[in-house]
Amino acid sequence: MDIKNCSRCGKIYAYDGFNICMQCRRKDEDDFKIIKEYIDENPGATISEVSEETEIDSKKIIEFLRQGRLEIKDENNVLLTCEKCGKSIKTGRFCEKCVSEMQREFKQSIGGGMNPKDMKNGRAKEKIRITDKYRNQ
Ligand SMILES: [Zn+2]
Ligand SMILES: [Zn+2]
Repeated sequence: MDIKNCSRCGKIYAYDGFNICMQCRRKDEDDFKIIKEYIDENPGATISEVSEETEIDSKKIIEFLRQGRLEIKDENNVLLTCEKCGKSIKTGRFCEKCVSEMQREFKQSIGGGMNPKDMKNGRAKEKIRITDKYRNQ
């Protein structure tokens, strides 16, 4: 078993595929629930509003966006960009174009959660919502 330092709190923990320790992950889950509840009640909230109201760092909210757990309604936001070409994206790590390019390259589906139809919705500023796959949990 690998022993690592948690990249968040610096404590030593038994590495199990995550870069942060169990305690930090549990804290993340709590924060995610708080954010999710807030967005459920305030579907038009911006990241800065969510961050202010929930007192959770906007960096963490962006982290959830990167993980594809939250989604920004506005594709022209500047908060989240494709890690490959730098284009603004709403959720995950890559834009639609790069995803389809990568799909072509690998000739198999990656990621899964990308819905091209979703990409064309909404112009309001950095609005976020919970992606449907987490609604039933
Ligand atoms: Zn930790
Ligand atoms: Zn891209």
